[in-house]
Amino acid sequence: MFTENINRRDFAKQTAAAALLAGLPVFTGGCSANPAKDIAAKILIIGGGAAGISVAARLRRKLDKAEITLVDPADKHFYQPGFTFIGAGVWKADDVWMKQEKLIPSGVKWIKDSVVEVDAAHNSATLKGGGKLSYDFLVLCPGLQENWSLIQGISKETLGEGNAHSIYDWQGSCKTWTAVDKFSRTGGRGIFTDTWTKHKCGGAPKKICLLTEQLARKHGKRDACTFKYFTGSKQLYDVPHYTPRLEEIYKEREIPVSVRCRLTGVDTAAKRAYFLNSETGQTFTEDYDILHFAPPQSAPDFVRNSGLGWKEGKLAPEAWVKTDKKTFVHLDHANIVCLGDAAGIPTSKTSAAIRKQAPIAVNNLCSLIAGKAPESIYDGYAACPIITDYGHVLMAEFDYEKKCCQSFPFSLIDTTKELRSAWWLKLYVLKPMYFHLMLRGLA
Ligand SMILES: Cc1cc2nc3c(=O)[nH]c(=O)nc-3n(C[C@H](O)[C@H](O)[C@H](O)COP(=O)(O)OP(=O)(O)OC[C@H]3O[C@@H](n4cnc5c(N)ncnc54)[C@H](O)[C@@H]3O)c2cc1C
Repeated sequence: MFTENINRRDFAKQTAAAALLAGLPVFTGGCSANPAKDIAAKILIIGGGAAGISVAARLRRKLDKAEITLVDPADKHFYQPGFTFIGAGVWKADDVWMKQEKLIPSGVKWIKDSVVEVDAAHNSATLKGGGKLSYDFLVLCPGLQENWSLIQGISKETLGEGNAHSIYDWQGSCKTWTAVDKFSRTGGRGIFTDTWTKHKCGGAPKKICLLTEQLARKHGKRDACTFKYFTGSKQLYDVPHYTPRLEEIYKEREIPVSVRCRLTGVDTAAKRAYFLNSETGQTFTEDYDILHFAPPQSAPDFVRNSGLGWKEGKLAPEAWVKTDKKTFVHLDHANIVCLGDAAGIPTSKTSAAIRKQAPIAVNNLCSLIAGKAPESIYDGYAACPIITDYGHVLMAEFDYEKKCCQSFPFSLIDTTKELRSAWWLKLYVLKPMYFHLMLRGLA
């Protein structure tokens, strides 16, 4: 790992920032009354990821008489932000998961199965295993679906073939590290890209690019490497408070950025990537020695098939759930709330966003159960700590308006620049905070 000099005043400020953040205050979502406490509602939660477990824990504490059931097929619960650290060789594969059974709150019934359809008109969900579950209220948080095969020549099963890698998969992140380590010691052509759909943690593809570049410098092989970054978006990053510095970093590190470029296919045998420029309609190819990409992403198929996704507008092609962006209540079904990556709301898909969403969704669900209008309002807060090197992070926090909304104590620091304290926060604080506070409904 690298160390760099910072002056003592900055050091003190940034240390205080990381330490204070470790003790983040409990966030209540601004509504403490609980009119639904003694109502015996039947609540079904679909998905036990960052959103589902956080909500289950909060509901269990708030509702004494409710019957709460959670459906999720997974044995392992991943702290997905850690996939970037695995891909960069900072963490090992087993550093990022816990057994799901240890995280299900007591008093919540876990059904280890997948939902294949929701019949919202009749308040029921069909399971892959064949059964049907009825509900009074539904919490929809199955995360998103990664559509690997939309990139020709790529499948989840063969990920890594032809040195085409992605940290958007747990095992993929392990293979990424083997490839990144080798590339940074030998040199070659590095092609890094994201995807054209909304994708979780928009910063992740940029982070792994910057970390690989720094490793090449560390190994004295930077001159033997070329790096290129292709984004499907119209700019590298679209939060004005942070964009100038991020663009500057890419310039300083001699990584040219091309915009509106979509990875459409990979010839893994020839190590050739196929791109489409979505503005001009032109296609082009790039030969590579290492390729890192993100898969196109959408709501899970059952959301679309159950008619729960947006059917018009920008969020329709991927069928993101038709959710009110302020209250999380489904816009067609008042007994469904949706949060997390599946939600069709214009925020960044991150677990940091879910930390703020969960208490609001729970307050509003309690109001609905009590026959009242939802009152807690979400402002779109999301955070995306962009790792710029082994030791620094650009601490991006913003709302629906893309306005910077820095949490205390980062609000005291110049966050337009990358910070050492944010690196410590990311490395040491956020994972324990996730598993031991957020998933217990405490942060
Ligand atoms: C490489 C990478 C880097 C990231 N970096 C960051 C970061 O730095 N900061 C940050 O805040 N966030 C980051 N994220 C994003 C963050 O991990 C996600 O936004 C978050 O996990 C989403 O939570 P969720 O509950 O909506 O979905 P998930 O946590 O994905 O959980 C969805 C759950 O639903 C279950 N499920 C799926 N389908 C069904 C079904 N049909 N029936 C029942 N259950 C189902 C799944 O098994 C899963 O357990 C990163 C993600 C990746 C991949």
